[in-house]
Amino acid sequence: MTTDKKVAIFLFGRPASGKGTQAKLLADKVGFYHFTTSREGKEYIKTHDDADTKRQVELYKSGKLFEAEWTSHMVLEKTGEIIKTAKGIIYDGTPRTLCEAQAVFPEVVKFLGKENIYVFLIDISEGEFKKRVEKRLTCNFDSRHIYVRSESFMPGTPCPEGDGVLEPRDLDNKEVLQMRTDEYANKTMPAVKFIEGLHNIVTINGEQPIEDVHKDIIKALGL
Ligand SMILES: [Zn+2]
Repeated sequence: MTTDKKVAIFLFGRPASGKGTQAKLLADKVGFYHFTTSREGKEYIKTHDDADTKRQVELYKSGKLFEAEWTSHMVLEKTGEIIKTAKGIIYDGTPRTLCEAQAVFPEVVKFLGKENIYVFLIDISEGEFKKRVEKRLTCNFDSRHIYVRSESFMPGTPCPEGDGVLEPRDLDNKEVLQMRTDEYANKTMPAVKFIEGLHNIVTINGEQPIEDVHKDIIKALGL
């Protein structure tokens, strides 16, 4: 990885694979922008009031995902803005569906050049995913702030980053876990498969300690 070029890093993985944590660690280390679709979408909504955007507000309020076409447009527009000042962008779980991948990935490649794009899959088993989800607490203000349940971190604990409150994001029940598993298999994996057809994907063992996952990513980036 050379430092004079603008770089995009795509991180994929099951929910609870630690991709958010890794994106944050990496962003702190290399000074890149940490991009999540949900946060950028919420920001975008604040500054746009067209009919398409208004519809996303309603979807979001009812707990649904933003529409793929709108999301793709938003991601590309935000990317164009961010990359003007950032050295690079780390996409945390974006694109989330095949449609988004088809619209977003080739554009980013065209924009920054194939040699400046890195794609990682942080791999954990289904069993490990279930174990982790039960212990995870997420900030209700910024989903990039994720903590593991402990004596110091309980539901209702103020987020150490000083914004929201920590909450279990996924209810500890079988239906929600199954839904997340299905979502990953039916939505995220087709996106990853599509990208795999266009670009090299580096698989990282996500069941290692956080620092080791980080080291593997740094090594693969040639840093
Ligand atoms: Zn927070």
